[in-house]
Amino acid sequence: MAAAAVFPALALILQMMGQPIYCACQQFQIWNGDTWSSHNSQHFLDWYSLTHVSHGLLMAGGTWLLLRKLLNFRGRLLVCLLLEAGWEVLENTPLIVQRYRTATVALGYTGDSIVNSIGDLLSCFVGFLLASTLGFRKTVVLLIALELLLLAVIRDNLTLNMVMLSWPLDAIREWQAAGH
Ligand SMILES: [Zn+2]
Repeated sequence: MAAAAVFPALALILQMMGQPIYCACQQFQIWNGDTWSSHNSQHFLDWYSLTHVSHGLLMAGGTWLLLRKLLNFRGRLLVCLLLEAGWEVLENTPLIVQRYRTATVALGYTGDSIVNSIGDLLSCFVGFLLASTLGFRKTVVLLIALELLLLAVIRDNLTLNMVMLSWPLDAIREWQAAGH
């Protein structure tokens, strides 16, 4: 299945871009919940993985709306994973990394580790499958629930992430910084 090939392809591209394979702390953890630390976005899964589940939910809806007449389920899944992998690559380019560093609370952020990017892609994959089984209404509920959960736990979510990346607001930055 072509979708499976996206995972090693992403790892290879990130390797060539010089991203670290793993967290500098060298301790393998499946999950790291320490958002305000240098371990964030370095281990396999963390709170931000949930924003990638949301990417999958949104893209399942988006590809169904726009591409369902052209592509079957597998084709749409492939499009979703290629877009997500593309975003992971973009996210680790100096331009975006610099923007995250100056615009958000991400401490000492130098881009994601490769292991974390693979976790992000996997989370997106799970989101796509979830949306496909849940249907429209339940997917919308799940999307909102994930955003609220992240807002409560880490004072950040997909919406705020996009706002801060495109239009950084001091009020949001201060509120986020006050949370740790
Ligand atoms: Zn670590």
